[in-house]
Parts: sequence; structure tokens; C-alpha cells
Amino acid sequence: MRIGAIEAGGTKFVCGIGNENGEILERVSFPTERPEVTLANVIAYFRDKEVEAIGIGSFGPIDIDPSSPTYGYVTTTPKPGWGNYPFLPELRKAFDVPFGWDTDVNAAALGEATWGAAAGLDSCLYYTIGTGVGVGVYAEGKLVHGLVHPEGGHVLTRRHPEDTYEGFCPYHGDCLEGMAAGPALEGRWKVKGSELGVDHKAWEIEAFYIGQAVAGAVLLMSPKRVILGGGVMHQMQLFPLIREQVRKNLNGYVSAEAVLAGIDAYIVPPGLGDNAGLSGSLALGLRALEASAK
Ligand code: ADP
Ligand code: ZN
Repeated sequence: MRIGAIEAGGTKFVCGIGNENGEILERVSFPTERPEVTLANVIAYFRDKEVEAIGIGSFGPIDIDPSSPTYGYVTTTPKPGWGNYPFLPELRKAFDVPFGWDTDVNAAALGEATWGAAAGLDSCLYYTIGTGVGVGVYAEGKLVHGLVHPEGGHVLTRRHPEDTYEGFCPYHGDCLEGMAAGPALEGRWKVKGSELGVDHKAWEIEAFYIGQAVAGAVLLMSPKRVILGGGVMHQMQLFPLIREQVRKNLNGYVSAEAVLAGIDAYIVPPGLGDNAGLSGSLALGLRALEASAK
């Protein structure tokens, strides 16, 4: 079986071919330019690949409501040319195959639930802490869409008592993204996160914010696993600090073994590593193919 996968990011696109076991057989990557240029590259890549379906995990915001007239569009992004752009409809014109279409973080959550750190579980949350913060939600065996799509990167946070950084989110200032995404580390400490030593105070403050948000999400969604990915989470010393913050915030109220003695196996890095995005898009394509066969 050959399934196409598109990891559509704001800075680069990764396209690849995979199979039903989650194996990526080949891949290419190119920078994200104006949509006409980028999609011409995508179409040229898949043209002779004979894929049975294509899955797309896309940067957003995007329209994922199948009943909407603008289903498959990128909606309000400031990225030149991409605002209100019919991404999925343009690809459908080029390929007559079933398409899977979802947010990049929902795709990553599905990939992790299918082949990665949440394999075999029917729920998980996937956070990416990178240029921004995004959250993918998988519950009872399905990706959650809701009204628009979950935007758990923008939940409000309680301030760390020693933190005077104002937050960079243009909408909320000191929401989770505003306080904890990569640019917040740089804004607060005046150097890139990757240049801060592992013992720097930065990581305690970083874990304070992420731990709050994750504790809130555990209370709201009761996920069976929480996966933390993205560039900032390459700082592995954050994991024990975040687990500690989550435990502190829950304070014994959620009495599940998973968040008590088992927390090391509950809040984890992506099992698919840096393949989470492309594998997730592959999983979306596979589900689209299965749905079309019913
Ligand atoms: P994107 O979110 O754009 O898809 P990434 O997940 O790689 O991409 O996130 C990029 C952000 O993560 C940047 O703000 C960068 O400074 C930060 N970052 C990348 N690597 C590290 C690292 N090792 N430690 C801390 N921050 C990092
Ligand atoms: Zn915000």
C-alpha cells in the first residue's frame, strides 16, 4: 500500500510516501513559498507516485468542518498568499484520491496514537512547544475538532512570581504560547533557548507554565497519555520538571496511578521523534482511505 503524506508547515513542507505500517519509504522537503509555487512542487512530487490516498497535516488556522463552504481552506494566516487559500480544493483538482485533512498537531496526535508513544491507547494529547504552542486532541479513538479546532496553546496562565516578562502573544500577551514558546525564552532571557545551559533558571520557569497548562488539560480531557514535542522540548531536562509541576498542580486530586507513581510514562516525548508530523499525515491518509472503503 502506498499512501501520500504532506506535513505542511509555515516554514517548510515535507512530502513523503508511506505504508500501512507507518513506514516512511521516501520523502522530500522544500521551503514554504507562496501557495501557487508550493502546491506546484507538491503536485509535481506526487504526480507519478500512484498513491491510494493523501493525508495533510497543515499549519493553520484551517477550516476542518466538512459542512463548511470553505472546508479545506487555510483561513486567517498573515503568511503572504495563504490567507483564505483553498489548499485542499486545489489538491483535489490534481488527484482523484481520498484526502485526510487536519491540523498539524491533530495529525501528530493521531500518528503517536497509531504508531508512537500512545500506540494502543484511545486517547492522548499532543503538545508542540516550538515557534508557537499547539495542541492536538485525540479522544475515544477520534481526533477532536469541535467548533473550530482545539487551541490549547492559548490558555491563560498564572504568572511565575519571579517572572516579569510580559509575553509575546499578540492576542493575549501572557497566555501559554506567549510565555512558553521558543520566542518567549528568547524574549525573557535575550538569548535563544538552545543556548541556555541545562541548569539555567529558565527551565524551572518554562516548566511552571507548561505544567500548569498540562494539569488543566488533564483535568478537562482526562487523556491516557500526554506527549510533549517541538523544538523547545529537545531540552530533555524539562520532562522531570514538568512532571513535578503537573503533580503539584493536581495535588493528589486525580488519583490515577498514571499521574502519581506512573507519571514518567504518562508525560513523554514523541515516540516518533521528529517524524511525528509526517507520520501523522500518513495516518490521516490511511484513515481517509479506510473511510472511503466503507
Ligand atoms: P516550528 O514550531 O516552527 O515548527 P520547532 O518545533 O523546531 O519549529 O520550534 C522552533 C522554536 O523552538 C524556536 O523558537 C527555537 O528557538 C526553539 N528551539 C529549537 N530548538 C531548541 C532547543 N534545543 N532548545 C530550546 N529551544 C529550541
Ligand atoms: Zn495567546
